[in-house]
Amino acid sequence: MSATDPLEFDLVVLGGGSGGLAGAFRAAAHGARVALLEPAELGGTCVNAGCVPKKAMWLAAQLASQIGAAAELGFDVPAVPGFDWPEFITDRQRYIDGIHESYRRRLDQAGVVLMPRRGALQGPRTVVADDGTRLHARHVLIATGSHPLRPRIPGAELGGVSDDFFALRRAPARVALVGGGYISVELAGVLQALGSRVELFVRGPRLLSHADEDVVAQLEENYRQLGVGLHFGYRLREVEPGEDGRVRLLDADGAATEAFDTLLYAIGRRANSAGIGLDRAGVATDARGNIAVDAFQNTTAEGVYAVGDVVGRETLTPVAIAAARRLMDRLFGGREDARLDYELVPTVVFAHPPIGGVGLTEAQARERHGDAVRVYRSRFRPMLQALVDTPLCSLFKLVCVGEERRVVGIHLFGEAADEILQGFAVALKLGATLADLHDTVAIHPTSAEELVLMS
Ligand code: NDP
Repeated sequence: MSATDPLEFDLVVLGGGSGGLAGAFRAAAHGARVALLEPAELGGTCVNAGCVPKKAMWLAAQLASQIGAAAELGFDVPAVPGFDWPEFITDRQRYIDGIHESYRRRLDQAGVVLMPRRGALQGPRTVVADDGTRLHARHVLIATGSHPLRPRIPGAELGGVSDDFFALRRAPARVALVGGGYISVELAGVLQALGSRVELFVRGPRLLSHADEDVVAQLEENYRQLGVGLHFGYRLREVEPGEDGRVRLLDADGAATEAFDTLLYAIGRRANSAGIGLDRAGVATDARGNIAVDAFQNTTAEGVYAVGDVVGRETLTPVAIAAARRLMDRLFGGREDARLDYELVPTVVFAHPPIGGVGLTEAQARERHGDAVRVYRSRFRPMLQALVDTPLCSLFKLVCVGEERRVVGIHLFGEAADEILQGFAVALKLGATLADLHDTVAIHPTSAEELVLMS
């Protein structure tokens, strides 16, 4: 072998986030020789600036709310507890460091060659690392993820994105969030519970345009009760600096808001598809920069595949993992038909309380099934809220179709919706009907029992 010969692998993976790691582990388990290139911390967005630190902050916010409830219910604790934010972040980081360590150990055990390098395609099956190392492989998996967007408006640099939220060291007094999607709703709930005054500026008429209308209406009502300001139909034209490092938002008519200590944009994410040699390898992207893939994660270049945020479809960690594992089962495990079914993906927004949904919303079901749709709702005050005597309600909803009332959508907003949904998603996938749910004995007293008692 000459000095210029590339290193030979069965699989080279670009990106060590959820999708890339899952692909590398599964391929190695099938006996493939795998190299994984990741210039930053292992775990990608989910572990370092997404799901994991977000869930930690959400748990902190839950604790703060529960301590408030405990104070109302006779416990000798302050209604608004002090919170040492930096100390919590130390614990959060210790947890994340443990994940990094576990990934490194598992990669090592699996025999995956980890290169802490940025890589780019030089041709369909050739990758060059940024130290000049050349790698050749039968298969290349692109799992380079995505990054948060900023608006293109004057003064945009005065605001931050979700990455900047994770760098906060204390609760800002007043926070403006731009956007009405997953991240905005989640950060609003966390920050409000931890003591900030939060206002959401949303261009559309409602929060969470992907979610069921009824559960979103209940979420909006609860957020208002909690003191979160909601501004719909808001057209952000400009951000201007105020006193003491604060900022003001200007709308399309030039009307200015009050000053905010912190401004965060949560207006979606874009694929990390630039600068990785896609042109050289013949890998096509769509107009938004997402890598185009077929149902088997094949790109337009033979031997090159893509999973996760970089393909821009159901951009959720478990989807990236599931797609990568099935792809590797197909490439190295002899399962020729293995592919991810992107239908019926359950998803949770970690609002306060959380929203969970799987299957069709009522609107989608009516579009597809017209008058055959039957909807069942339960709006109730969970016991803790009733004990504390707050007006905060939960709303659970079933969308069914046809005479047999087959369940095609489950939409939950309420305590523990995040934990309840998983099992019901299995039932929906197996084709459960309303009668099947009714035939299941309720667990009492819980929120979950509402799902088997609805009529
Ligand atoms: P989302 O796509 O969820 O929401 C984006 C929001 O910003 C929408 O309200 C959208 O409005 C609005 N918007 C888009 N462009 C502009 C603009 N130029 N000016 C003002 N508003 C704008 O994106 P997020 O950033 O919240 O989250 C990114 C993705 O990350 C999510 O889609 C999800 O896939 C993933 N994620 C998943 C989580 C989970 O599973 N719990 C948690 C966090 C993120 P409109 O609706 O009108 O388009």
